[in-house]
Amino acid sequence: MRRERVSDDIYVFTSNLYAQVTASAVVTRGGIVIIDTLPFRSETNEMVDYLNSLGQGPIKYLVNTHWHGDHTNGNCLFDDSVELVSHRRCQQAMMQYSEAELAASKEITPLLEGIEVKIPEVVFEEGKMVLHVENKSVELILSPGHTFDSTMAYVREDKVLIAADTVMPVPYFVWGDRHVFQQSLEVLKTYNIESIVQGHGEVLLRGEIPGAIDSNIEYLVIVEKKVREFVDKGKSKHDLKELTIDLCGKSRIPLNGLVQDLHQANIQHLYDEFVRERDRIETEEMKEMENVGVDLEVTEAAEVAEETAEQSLL
Ligand SMILES: [Zn+2]
Repeated sequence: MRRERVSDDIYVFTSNLYAQVTASAVVTRGGIVIIDTLPFRSETNEMVDYLNSLGQGPIKYLVNTHWHGDHTNGNCLFDDSVELVSHRRCQQAMMQYSEAELAASKEITPLLEGIEVKIPEVVFEEGKMVLHVENKSVELILSPGHTFDSTMAYVREDKVLIAADTVMPVPYFVWGDRHVFQQSLEVLKTYNIESIVQGHGEVLLRGEIPGAIDSNIEYLVIVEKKVREFVDKGKSKHDLKELTIDLCGKSRIPLNGLVQDLHQANIQHLYDEFVRERDRIETEEMKEMENVGVDLEVTEAAEVAEETAEQSLL
């Protein structure tokens, strides 16, 4: 686990074990707010031990930014004196998906042994929720896109945005909605931000922020355009490998290259969506043709009937 300080009272902990996931903490004498846990027990415990060693207030709140296990697996390591907070959508998503998801992850990762799903009980639904500890105000804001429950935490006094997976080295939207994602990224531009803690990877500093946000929006536009062209040309899904992350305006280096896998997952997801869309249109057109065929038959039959009627009058 890597530890850094992004302002006097805000610490960021980055996992060495999985995809450079980050967890953050706002530390005051009046209490500590933790935003997200780390994926595995050892690192979450290490973070908690460190925070306790600072001799500041007790851990009061743990915020979940979205339901994904790499951010929430550590929930069960906190006792009930810590209030577990999230947006209602996250609570609902965890009730729906987390048990199955955790069971599947446990099959692959022995490091998850003993981890249990723990679901947030303090939730907000409308507008924003603001958590106050001593002189800090931590604003929780829904920012869907990566997932429909994605939430960010903005520490007003420090102008630090803990953006979770709304800001990553490459936007990853297979669980969510890329158009809504784009809108959420546009909203970020209205914030006065000193630094952004990404859900995975490096902390972004003031000078890097506008470029990073624009580049993420740009990426969403480019992949949509390129994959659509791909489908229109009738290329196969296998050929998507040609459409590398560099060709879509992003570096292949961050997260030890994992961004390339995220990118491939994104474009395969888009490809499937566009193919479904194309097939649906084709079936509708076929049906219309068939209907026209039926109409013709009906007309012909009517004409024949009319003729017969006319004839019989004779
Ligand atoms: Zn996620």
